[in-house]
Order: sequence, then C-alpha cells, then structure tokens
Amino acid sequence: MICLQGKGVSEGLAQGPICFYRRAEAAAFAGAGSAAAADPAAEARRFARAAAKTAEHLNALAETARAAAGEEAALLFEAHALLAKDEDFADFVNAAIESEHCSAERAVLLARERFAALLAAADDAYLQQRADDVRNVARQILNSLTGVSEGGIVLRKPAILAADDFTPSETLLLDKTRLLGLLTQSGSASSHTAILARTMGIPAICGLGEALGPALDGRMAVMDGAAGTVAVEPDAAALTAFAAACAQRQTLHAQAEAARGQPDVTLDGRVLHVYCNIGAPEDLAAVQANDGQGVGLFRSEFLYLAAGGCPTEEQQFQAYRAIAAAMEGRRVVIRTLDVGSDKQLSHFDLPREENPALGMRGVRVCLAHPEVFCTQLRALYRASAYGNVAILLPMIASVWEVRECKRLCQSVMAQLEREGALYRADTALGVMIETPAAVLIAAELAREADFFSVGTNDLTQYLLACDRQSGHLEKFRDTHHPAVLRAVKLAADAARAAGIPISICGDLAADLSLTQAFAAMGIDALSVPPAAVLPLRAAVRRTSAKGCAPQAPQ
Ligand code: PEP
Ligand code: MG
Repeated sequence: MICLQGKGVSEGLAQGPICFYRRAEAAAFAGAGSAAAADPAAEARRFARAAAKTAEHLNALAETARAAAGEEAALLFEAHALLAKDEDFADFVNAAIESEHCSAERAVLLARERFAALLAAADDAYLQQRADDVRNVARQILNSLTGVSEGGIVLRKPAILAADDFTPSETLLLDKTRLLGLLTQSGSASSHTAILARTMGIPAICGLGEALGPALDGRMAVMDGAAGTVAVEPDAAALTAFAAACAQRQTLHAQAEAARGQPDVTLDGRVLHVYCNIGAPEDLAAVQANDGQGVGLFRSEFLYLAAGGCPTEEQQFQAYRAIAAAMEGRRVVIRTLDVGSDKQLSHFDLPREENPALGMRGVRVCLAHPEVFCTQLRALYRASAYGNVAILLPMIASVWEVRECKRLCQSVMAQLEREGALYRADTALGVMIETPAAVLIAAELAREADFFSVGTNDLTQYLLACDRQSGHLEKFRDTHHPAVLRAVKLAADAARAAGIPISICGDLAADLSLTQAFAAMGIDALSVPPAAVLPLRAAVRRTSAKGCAPQAPQ
C-alpha cells in the first residue's frame, strides 16, 4: 500500500482505479516548438486567429459554467477570455516571432514563460496569482495552434483522475458520469480547479507532489477529499476504515436530506438560522434547490466584476430587486461593494500598494468614491421596497466609518423621498466584523449598527497575520485558533449586550465541528454556500445550545 497526503480541497470519498492523464500537448509542441518560421507575418496572423478562437471558446465555457456551477465559476472563464485577448501578451508573442524568427507555437511558449515570470515577480499577490492563469490560457492558445483538443478528457470506465494539474476548462468539461475524484500534484485550496470541484461536488485533493505520478496509472485507490489522503492498493485495514467512513457519510447525507423543510432549531429550542452566501441573482436557483431560508450574504462586488466596471443604478436595482422578490419576505443581506486587495476593479484605478489587503479596500473604497457608493445605496433602498433587504458594510475598522455611511444612507433616503420613490426607511444596516479593530470596539459599533455579521475569512487573515491568498501558509492558518474563536465570542457578547443579532458569513460558518460552539456563543445565523445548507441544518438540529443566553431579535 502507498499512502499519499495532500491538501483536501473538495470533500467526498472515492474508490476506484487511478487514471493518470498525460497531456497530448507535450508531444504536439515538441515538434512545433523549435520550428523556425519562414514568414513571420503569417505566424503573427496564425497567433491572432488562435487567440481569438481561444477567447471565443472560453466565453462559451463561461456560459456553460454559469449554468453548471454558478456565477463565480463563470467569472473565471470570462477572466481567462480577457487574458487570451490581452494586448500585452500579444506584444510578447509578436516580439518573439520577430526577434527569434520562430513559429507562433514557439513564440507562445516563450511569451508564456516571460509574461508569467514577470507577473510572478510582481509585488502584488493578485498579479502573482495571475501567472498561473497566463500559463493556462497560453496552453489553450497552443492547443488551438496545434489542433490539440483540450477539455475532452475521456474516461472509458469510472476512475479517479490524476494529473500534474487541471485547467478550469478541463475540470468543467470532465464527463462527471465516470469521474470518481480528482488528484493533482500541484494547486491549492484557492485554485480555480479546487473552487470548481467544490461547486460541482467532486472529491478533490491537490498538492500531492511527485509521489503522484504516471506509475500509479491503473492502480486501485481510495481517497478522502476532506482529509486529503489517498491509499493506493489499500490493505485490509485501510479498506475497513474507508468502508466505515462511507457508512458515516451516508448517515450524514440521510440526516441532511431529512433536514429539508425542517426549521433551523437546536435540540433545546434555540433558532439558529441557516442562510446562503451568493454572488449573483443566478445563484438563487441553488439557494432554492438546497432549501436555503434566506440570503445571509450577497457579495455585490461580483456584479461589478462581471460588468468590468460599475453597473448603473438601474442594473443594480434590477439585480437586488430580483433577489429580494424571489426570497418572498425572507431575509436578504446585501453587502455593499467590497473591492480592492484580491478583487481589483480597474474602474477605480487604485494605486499599486505594497500590502493590498491592508490598503484601499471595502468601505474605504466606497467612502473615497461617494458617487459610486450612493448609486449603489439608491439601488439598494429602492429594492428594499420589494422584500426583506438588509445592507451590510464591509471592512469596518472605526466608528466614524459607520457614521459616515449612515449619513450617506440618510441623504440617499431623503433624495428618494423627494422623488416619491418607494423604499423602506427601516432597512437594517449592519456591520461586518472582520478586522481586529471591529472586534475590540464591538460595543461601540453595536450602538451604531442594526446587526453584525462576522467575516471569519478576513478576520482570520488579520488576527493571525496570514495572507488569505498565500498557498504557503496553510500550516500557520489555523482557522480554529483560540484568537479567532475568542474574537467571535467577544463580538457575540457585544451584540447580545446591545440587543442586536449577530451572524457569521465567513467560511467558518460551514464548519460543522463548530456549530455547537457558535450556538453556545449566542450566534443567531450562519450563512454558508448553498450546498452546505442541509448538512449544516442537520448539525444545528442535533446540537444543543446549552448555557447560551437568550436570543437577540432577528
Ligand atoms: C469574510 O471575510 O469572511 C467574508 C465573508 O468576506 P469575503 O470572503 O468576501 O472577504
Ligand atoms: Mg471579507
């Protein structure tokens, strides 16, 4: 038996033969790569045609992704389509064709390495991560030039598919009927492939290193996508443990399904709402399919990122109203624009920063651009007339920021009043607790806010001084660190003392090992990806919140 340990990035269990995928591109490029070109202008035209075809293909994939895996997945492909048409990259390729007198294929290979190296050396973590995207897109342009068809990995029988890594398009186009699981040598939990695997419900482990190689092709294995473990040719003890894990998973699945249609109440009668995190109105289908009882976090910045700029008031109003109306009076928390750091919007032309996570992001961007912020607030207040909308402010660190936002809200409402527009003056205004400062001044913030929502992703990043984008800090990013749990408790205590509700909308909300602790702290709602709703509701229903104080009104 060979035991491999990697990073579990998409939970689930699988048993079957490993199919190690070898790319056709290596062989195809080997010949073309060194070829000298007789006619540089013809090579430049071949490149331009291949790049355009790749962009077209990626845009089509974005639509497939939108239907199969939601808005976040679609955005990955749209971003890659933009890269395929990137003028800087084209300049690199054309310069290589000119200076090396080489084929378009060789020029793309050279440009890929030069462009990716430039990005990888950038100070900015966001740009560094784009190096992988460049390699991905360049590979697809090469495929188009050499006639290699990508994305059509065919499994002739059910198998656990392994490779050095998979591109997002390969992952999206995999025939899921025979796919048992995914294993990769490289990659991280935040890689695009991992995000897609999770959204599509495929067990996946990445970062298995060289130990995962072609020599394992065809050998039987069992994998645990949560623990990140693979046993190749498992012995009797490993098979027994695997069977026990499968049985436990089946029980949990049955409990989750039994929770459909049931109230979000603990064994001792405390309501702990389970809401959904979404990124686009299209994600409502998943909320409904998973019986989500409300939207606890709509990350409105995805509307802006999808539009590549600022959507108009009317466009935003349509989106917010659609969500509010579809939820038919159930809670819909819409977070105001949270760009900056890893979510850059070129519209703002933000200055290059040494530490973007500590820079112009979240509410800071909104306060620096009141015209953009007020457009969003107008759309939000107008939509408030169509459902149970609450507004949430991201990245708050000081009381004056909340007061300034409230002043802008008042002025927007006064405008709408003068115009005779419909809006709800009692629309709740909440504060995200995701900076250490917000935790420490939670009592003061609670006097200004109608509710709190804890963003454990950023809170963990700032409390532990661990960049959430970095794949090298896994060992130090302890999401159960006492500092994180104590911070959540401090915020919950302050909320309860002030009589306002508090929810958690960061990734930790879906961590079933903490459900009891959150209930005991007096948390009122947990907001999670739609697919996590039923398992979480089942966990809430088998939890006792013993010892927790009475609940704040929702
Ligand atoms: C968080 O920080 O936990 C959060 C919910 O916000 P985001 O992940 O969008 O930064
Ligand atoms: Mg955050």
